[in-house]
Amino acid sequence: MESVSVSGGEVGGAGGAYSYEALKRLDQLWSNICLPQQVVQKPQQVVSTIPSLFSSSGLADKAEGSYDVLVCGGTLGIFIATALSARGLRVAVVERNVLKGREQEWNISRKELLELAEVGVLEEDDIERVTSVKCNPFTTKQFEYKIQYSVGDLDLASASYFILVVFVINHCRPVKLIEIVKERFISLGGEIFEGRSVSGIDVYEDVAVLKLSGDKILTSRLIVDAMGNFSPVVKQIRSGRKPDGVCLVVGTCARGFNNNSTSDVIYSSSSVKKVGNSNAQYFWEAFPTGSGPLDRTTYMFTYVDPQPGSPKLEELLEDFWDLMPEYQGVSLENLEILRVIYGIFPTYRDRAMSAKQKSNVPADFINELLYANFNCMQDVVQFWPLSKTLGLVMLTNPQLLPSIFKQVGVAVLLDWSRHFLMLAYFTFLSTFADPVVR
Ligand SMILES: Cc1cc2nc3c(=O)[nH]c(=O)nc-3n(C[C@H](O)[C@H](O)[C@H](O)COP(=O)(O)OP(=O)(O)OC[C@H]3O[C@@H](n4cnc5c(N)ncnc54)[C@H](O)[C@@H]3O)c2cc1C
Repeated sequence: MESVSVSGGEVGGAGGAYSYEALKRLDQLWSNICLPQQVVQKPQQVVSTIPSLFSSSGLADKAEGSYDVLVCGGTLGIFIATALSARGLRVAVVERNVLKGREQEWNISRKELLELAEVGVLEEDDIERVTSVKCNPFTTKQFEYKIQYSVGDLDLASASYFILVVFVINHCRPVKLIEIVKERFISLGGEIFEGRSVSGIDVYEDVAVLKLSGDKILTSRLIVDAMGNFSPVVKQIRSGRKPDGVCLVVGTCARGFNNNSTSDVIYSSSSVKKVGNSNAQYFWEAFPTGSGPLDRTTYMFTYVDPQPGSPKLEELLEDFWDLMPEYQGVSLENLEILRVIYGIFPTYRDRAMSAKQKSNVPADFINELLYANFNCMQDVVQFWPLSKTLGLVMLTNPQLLPSIFKQVGVAVLLDWSRHFLMLAYFTFLSTFADPVVR
């Protein structure tokens, strides 16, 4: 990995660093997360409430700018900021690095890109400019899904499924997409403060005050946190609690794949194995990349508990070099590694739709549920596709319902229903009430 050159430079957003040094830094951060809870330091207080007026404080004349909205963190933040600027608000973005999209592509559906055009973030013509590969279900490019699932120590490798899922997914170039949106944001009057880190947020009675590195002070009616998984604001809200689970991912974008026409959304062929002190099952994702006909991205990921002795990214990468050639039917010697990619995704149990933990879940039940789900799966972060997915699972697999109710429990189901109704209410308001108000 040390010999792979980092072309295009590294950026601040997740998956935007490719060098060995950055991998070691992320592994150090991951090792700190794995420390026993009593060793974990209390996070720094970033957001404070000040029960007085900023306008009558001694700091008021130090404020260098006043905004309707300040967005902290630029990778996805620039999209929110541009949509708000397009509605006539005075907006600024604060980014601790240079605001630039990563070289490595994002998977995104055309529908999602069209939604960005609808809210004024992009022009429809831009969609073609940022799209590098189109995977259309009516061509030869289809998504394959195969899963062998494991529960704790129980290896369920014998139960496997194969499904062809037909999605329309685009691979888009974040570097181009963010460049276009950045230009648009500036042309709409937005301001960007690059190379400035958020050091504190003071919420006064009359205004919120954003403190930046270099003693810069800005004020705003609203401050949006778009600083990603490791946001200092989120750290404070969670009181430094360590995540309940973490998804670790390593992978490459490499040149030299003669067979490069299909994509795997999620694939696993190996059983649970011991990696470090954890039991882990490896999953894979692979798809063609827009930089050339033989270029392909391959990710290997796994889910582990953050505990001392959990596998490091560097250890996973060693397994990746061993296992990837067999998975993709290639030899490493014939590949030119364009970049190595890695990341960690923390997850917490206390969020919407989390169920209580039970160790006696029947193996077949998990497999059947996953199979049913992936067969009916739509874009489940939106109300209608989620309703369709749930409806289809209920109609095609009614026998699963009693087991789901038993596993999840009434309290969680009621809580989840509340979130589902709120999503319905939000969809109703944004579809029908919003145009009337406007
Ligand atoms: C290997 C990998 C592959 C991925 N593939 C995809 C994909 O195909 N499609 C997809 O949609 N997503 C993908 N993701 C998910 C990825 O996390 C998101 O697409 C995207 O990067 C999230 O953007 P974000 O702005 O929420 O967070 P981040 O990308 O983490 O960006 C946060 C931003 O906030 C800035 N920031 C942080 N702290 C401060 C501070 N104190 N002050 C000022 N600025 C700060 C950072 O510099 C950064 O620019 C992938 C992630 C990884 C790791």
